[in-house]
Amino acid sequence: MEIDGKTRVVGIIGWPVSHSLSPLMHNAAFRHLRLNYCYIPLPVAPEKIGEAVRGLEALGFVGANVTIPHKEAVIPYLAELDVGAELTGAVNTIVRTPAGLKGYNTDVDGFLRSLKEDLGFVPIGKKVVILGAGGAARAAVVALALAGAAAIVVLNRNPARGRALCELLAPRLRERGWQGELTAFPLPPEDEEKVFQGANLLVNATPAGMEGFTAELPLPLEQLPGELVVYDMVYNPPMTPLLQECRRRGLQAVNGLGMLLYQGAAAFTLWTGREAPVEIMASVLAKQVENQ
Ligand code: NAP
Repeated sequence: MEIDGKTRVVGIIGWPVSHSLSPLMHNAAFRHLRLNYCYIPLPVAPEKIGEAVRGLEALGFVGANVTIPHKEAVIPYLAELDVGAELTGAVNTIVRTPAGLKGYNTDVDGFLRSLKEDLGFVPIGKKVVILGAGGAARAAVVALALAGAAAIVVLNRNPARGRALCELLAPRLRERGWQGELTAFPLPPEDEEKVFQGANLLVNATPAGMEGFTAELPLPLEQLPGELVVYDMVYNPPMTPLLQECRRRGLQAVNGLGMLLYQGAAAFTLWTGREAPVEIMASVLAKQVENQ
């Protein structure tokens, strides 16, 4: 589609944003459905975030994605939050509505959908171990609890941050009626066998294994139960060290490309009201990651 006087604009607010795959993914989807939309990178320095968010409304943007380091900082400038954004305290998608800007956290939906589509994993009644206690781990905890997981164990290198995640999220999830168990231990755990006893899913929500990140995952994988399935949120490189090790040991494991895809698909639908062409978006993402 040519950009013309009727083109509707969305973008991604981050600092930096030049590495983001979202412009490629969304513009391919708009082209495929012949929608007169355009998705642009919006590099915004931290001290400008308020002006930038207010600018979305003033400039008539349809909405935007929000990425590191702004996912929490945008919240004071929004009129309303969806459940995922409210529970995680983080927004990755903004939609302009007649009542003002509304914030969503489609990482929550994206993670859940990827678990189902890519691993065939349904969280209800399951025990899950999550590595990391940052924004991605928060989205995973909220997604798993909303989907009825019975127990979630957070392992974090900095144990205080793991405990803080539990103290923040447990009361919010209880208020929503979740009756599962949320606990935190240091990474690596003192008693790995106990932590993994009865676990069904392991999620890596740390950057360990990411391209250009040399630190290894501080978790010996030898003792992991053989029936465990593994979700690595890292997707660059597509065959992460964790995936390699899982495949070598015969464990079912996938990378985080599906989460990126499905959070994008959910945002696409919020902006356009149309179902996202996920095959097109997935093939653009896969090609780009392979060529990086
Ligand atoms: P974040 O908020 O900065 O949190 C990073 C977490 O990783 C912290 O818990 C940190 O532990 C831990 N960590 C960092 N280096 C580590 C190491 N060498 N060993 C053990 N733990 C380490 O980051 P985030 O936003 O949560 O993102 C985490 C990862 O998920 C990134 O790789 C990101 O690309 C990926 N992600 C993927 C998707 C997707 O769509 N697939 C979406 C979101 C995020 P401390 O607290 O001890 O520092």
